[in-house]
Amino acid sequence: MSPPSPRTGFLAVVSGPSGSGKTTLCRKAVETDGCFHSISCTTRAPRTGEVDGVDYHFLSRDEFLARTVRGDFLEWARVHGNFYGTLRSDVLDHIEAGRDVVMDIDVQGAQLVRACEDPFIRAAVIDIFILPPSMAELESRLSGRGTESEDQLRLRLYNALDEMRHWREYRYTIVSGSPDEDLERFLCLLRAARLRTAGLRTPEGLLGGEAATAADDEPTPPRREPELFS
Ligand code: 5GP
Repeated sequence: MSPPSPRTGFLAVVSGPSGSGKTTLCRKAVETDGCFHSISCTTRAPRTGEVDGVDYHFLSRDEFLARTVRGDFLEWARVHGNFYGTLRSDVLDHIEAGRDVVMDIDVQGAQLVRACEDPFIRAAVIDIFILPPSMAELESRLSGRGTESEDQLRLRLYNALDEMRHWREYRYTIVSGSPDEDLERFLCLLRAARLRTAGLRTPEGLLGGEAATAADDEPTPPRREPELFS
């Protein structure tokens, strides 16, 4: 049996309006930084080139709603008229095994993850908002993608304003600049997240290892007060 990982993984919750570049950042974190990307479920139709089980688990509305009733989702929300959700199983096993997960979810989903009752999940979360430098830039990035219909584009721009009102709820914000700058800042945050005290397991042989706890009848040693004026 392989020894347990010296730390638990983090759960990077990344939000920002469509066109902010968050999906690209998450993809790069997987390609270059060893993170896992949680594959969400959605009721939206696949875009050209999207593969079921790779980009999303594409579900019918009935399947999706059945899974919400079964409690399969860590969080789920209605976004741009479709349902999206993260499977609990997709995230928990990874972070327990010390693997870092990035998830690209909307602001409602991020609120639900932050409010999650499971202290293990809450301790693993690092939340990052990606802000576009201006509305004009966002509009040009969105229309440049060419993946949305005119109606969808208008809806996404309208929703972008709503989404951007929530940026202060996140611990970290990246104001998007060049792709290289954004990636460097993003990777800095992920590297710092690997050093979180909350994610560390006490090393074997140091303070008795993680499992060691003081016996109930063991006296508490007196606390040594700092000697301020010695
Ligand atoms: P898209 O349709 O462009 O792939 O994604 C639309 C929006 O849905 C994005 O803002 C994305 O962050 C959000 N989204 C994707 N997966 C999930 C999810 O599992 N949960 C929530 N709450 N939002 C998601």
